[in-house]
Amino acid sequence: MLVPRSMSGRKVGILGLGLSGMAAAHALDAAGAHCWLHDDSRAAPDHLPAWAQTAHWQDWPWDGLDAMVISPGIPHDHPAPHPAAARARNAGVEIISEVELAMRAAPRARLVAITGTNGKSTTTALIGHCLRHAGVAASVGGNIGDAACNLEDPGPDGVIVLELSSYQLETTPSLHADVALLLNITPDHLDRHGGMDGYVAAKARILSALLPDGLAVFGEDHGPVGRLATEFLAAGGSGMTVGADDLPANARLSPALAGPHNAVNAAAAAACLRHLGVSEDDFAAGLADFDGLPHRMQHVAQHEAVTFINDSKATNGVAAACALAAFDSIYWIAGGEAKADGLGPAAAATQNVERAYLIGSAAADFAAELTGLVPVRLSGDLESATHAAFADASAATGVAGAATVLLSPAAASFDQFENFVARGDAFSAIARQIATTETTAGGAHA
Ligand code: ADP
Repeated sequence: MLVPRSMSGRKVGILGLGLSGMAAAHALDAAGAHCWLHDDSRAAPDHLPAWAQTAHWQDWPWDGLDAMVISPGIPHDHPAPHPAAARARNAGVEIISEVELAMRAAPRARLVAITGTNGKSTTTALIGHCLRHAGVAASVGGNIGDAACNLEDPGPDGVIVLELSSYQLETTPSLHADVALLLNITPDHLDRHGGMDGYVAAKARILSALLPDGLAVFGEDHGPVGRLATEFLAAGGSGMTVGADDLPANARLSPALAGPHNAVNAAAAAACLRHLGVSEDDFAAGLADFDGLPHRMQHVAQHEAVTFINDSKATNGVAAACALAAFDSIYWIAGGEAKADGLGPAAAATQNVERAYLIGSAAADFAAELTGLVPVRLSGDLESATHAAFADASAATGVAGAATVLLSPAAASFDQFENFVARGDAFSAIARQIATTETTAGGAHA
C-alpha cells in the first residue's frame, strides 16, 4: 500500500465509496488521518473496517476539514459540482483524488503516467507486461485494476505504471512522472469538463507533471495532441511523437493488438520502455505474447468461419471506427447510450461492414446516421442482435469465407447494462453459447 504519511492527523472527508474511495480510506487510516465516509447511492460496503466512520457529508466537521477525496465518477465542477464539492470549495477545503494520496506517499519507483481518450488501459497493461517480461518490478493500476493507493512501491529500480483519466488528472496536483504518455484526445466526457477546452486542459496536466529529465510521448495527431506536442517541444521539453509505423523493426504485434490504433499504442509503449532502459529484444518478446485485455478487441468465440469479437469498451465512435478498420466482412453490433457526436467517425468507417445490428436507446439515431451506408436491423437488445448477426454471418461464410460478429457499440452501456464489463460479459456468454450449441448440433448431424 502507498501510505501518505504527510496526512497523519489530518481530517479528510471521502466522497464516493467505490474502489478508489475505499482505497483512499485504507491508505489514510494507515497514515493516521481521521476520515468521514459518505456515498449518495450506496450503503457503506459490508467489509467496512471498524475504524471507518460513515457520516453524511453535511455532518462532516467542515470547519476543521483539511481535504476532501472525491471519486472520479462524481463531478467536482461540471456540469454542476456535487453539493459536497461546492461546500468544500466555499469552505476552502482542497478537493483531491485518491491518486493524489498515492503521490503524497512519495514512492521511490520511477513513474509512468498514461492518458488519452482511447487506448489508456491497453497501453498501460502492455507497458506493465513488457516491464515484467524484462525482469523489472512493476506495479500497475490507477484507472485500471488496482487503485493507486493499493499498489506496492517496487522501489528505486522498479516502475509504477498509472493509467489516469481526465478526472483524476484534474484532482492530482502532486502528480510527477518520469514518462508521460498522451495518446490521443477526441471529444468525450465534455459535460464533465465544460467543453472541449476544459477536456484538453485536463489531459494536458499530464505534461506539467513531467520531471525535468522526463520524457513526453505523444500519439500522432493533427488535433489537440499535435498542438500540445508542438507547444511542449517549443518550450524546450523532451518529447517525441509516435505513429503506427514507429515500432522497432523486430517488433511483431500479438493477435490481441489487431488494428493500426494498437500499433500506435505499442509504438508509444516502445518509446516509454526505451527511456526506462528496456532493450528492444525484451520489448519485442513482451509484445509478441501480450494477451490483451478483456472487452477490447477480444476474441471470445469461434464457430467454423465466424469469429466473435468483444469490443464492448468501444464506448465512443473513435474507438469503434478503429475496430471496424481491423476486420473484413463485419456483422456489427452497435448502440447503447449515445455520446454527443453519435456514431462520430464510425459512420464513415463502415466499408467492411455487411450489416449493422442496432440496440439500446441510440438505435434509431444510429440507423438514421447509417442510412445509405450499410443495411441496418433494429434489434433492440444484445441477445437478438447477436443471434441475428450470427445467422447472417454464418449464411454468408458459405459464399464469402470468414466473417466477424463484432460488438463495438460506439456508445455507453448504461441504458441496458451496469457498465461496459457487464455488456461485454453478456455478449461473450451469448457468443459462446451459440458456438457450443451450433457445434453440438453440427456434430449430431454428422
Ligand atoms: P481506455 O482505457 O482509454 O478506454 P482501452 O485500451 O480500454 O482504452 O480501449 C478502449 C477502446 O478504444 C477499445 O475499443 C479499443 O479497441 C479502442 N482503442 C484502443 N487504443 C486506441 C487508440 N489508440 N485510438 C483509438 N481507439 C483505441
